[in-house]
Amino acid sequence: MTKKEVQLEKIKQDILQQKVCPELAAGATQLVFGDGNADAELVFIGEAPGKNEDEQGLPFVGAAGKFLNEMLEAIGQKRADVYITNIVKYRPPENRDPYPDEKAAFLPFLRSQLQVIKPKIVVTLGRHSMECFLPGLQISSAHGQPKRYKGQVYLPLFHPAAALYNNAMRQTLIDDFMKIPRILAKI
Ligand code: URA
Repeated sequence: MTKKEVQLEKIKQDILQQKVCPELAAGATQLVFGDGNADAELVFIGEAPGKNEDEQGLPFVGAAGKFLNEMLEAIGQKRADVYITNIVKYRPPENRDPYPDEKAAFLPFLRSQLQVIKPKIVVTLGRHSMECFLPGLQISSAHGQPKRYKGQVYLPLFHPAAALYNNAMRQTLIDDFMKIPRILAKI
């Protein structure tokens, strides 16, 4: 294991030992911590695991994940090159939206993950993920526009699950995604 992999594993163990969100944990199959390259230039942050993610213990492995993989391939990135995680790391019952206190409970661990990985771009997927890092922005106008905030570059994108069944949003997400190589090259 690399030093960064060891540090990420420590954060995962901290979540388990500190019993973060015990009610969510009790209803979930397992913790979905994150997946990919501990040294990634790109980190993608979704909202919370769904059914497939809960079963497999990996983020974005269902329909939204397949769409995400296709967009990654289109910009010449493999899933193994990037790092993917969620704000909330246990599946909420019935896939309900995570509560504000659940997001707040996991945020320090998410920030620690980012401090270890030190990506060039944090790509937030959906409104909830964006609001954790870029408060006060509207996703309808902020999507696809890189923002530098406290020394970190963020790129807010629509959530692939929301865009899957909405053609206009889907095309906008694809167009925004295709900007990633140029943004990366400028950093
Ligand atoms: N949607 C998310 O926000 N995260 C996942 O891991 C899967 C679907």
